[in-house]
Amino acid sequence: MAGRRVGILGIQGAVQKHGRLLEAAGASSEIVLHPEELETVDALVLPGGESSTISKGIERLGLLEPIREFVRQGRPVLGTCAGAILLAKRCRNHPVPTLGLLDVTACRNAYGTQVDSFSSGADPGGDSGLAGMRCVFIRAPRLEDLGPDVEVLLRVDDWPVLVRQAGVLASTFHPELAGDPRVHRLLWA
Ligand code: GLN
Repeated sequence: MAGRRVGILGIQGAVQKHGRLLEAAGASSEIVLHPEELETVDALVLPGGESSTISKGIERLGLLEPIREFVRQGRPVLGTCAGAILLAKRCRNHPVPTLGLLDVTACRNAYGTQVDSFSSGADPGGDSGLAGMRCVFIRAPRLEDLGPDVEVLLRVDDWPVLVRQAGVLASTFHPELAGDPRVHRLLWA
């Protein structure tokens, strides 16, 4: 990742924590709030937060089509929690307008409310390089109805929590809160 520039959508969420992890992995990071800022970055992170608010922000800032085009051009994107919801093609349980880039249905708040937030160790086995990942879930969505091109990289309790479809990566947990850069490194793995 050395020398790569990664944009972080700055509407909401732990922007600085994502930035620190990216920098720990050798990339530089910058906040993206306007379409022209997408032109100078090699990848994009969509942090967690409230997908309804972020979705409105994307619309208001005129970022909907530019982000879709960014991904169509083959530049990688990582969405965490609300960011994963925004990447989904389909959304349920108080659905929000999404970017429609990942062939899954995101079921919002599927684990319950804030008090049901939890952290869990995930072990994919094999040599995925993701062994022992600590996954922090905060009002997390579940990803359902995965399309045939969606690869599951990590599961917790049999539910997919980290998935990939070509350059689109989505985690239903918050890797930036556990301080583990391995998920961000997958942007170029
Ligand atoms: N519950 C939020 C939503 O549905 C996501 C929470 C998060 O990003 N931690 O938008």
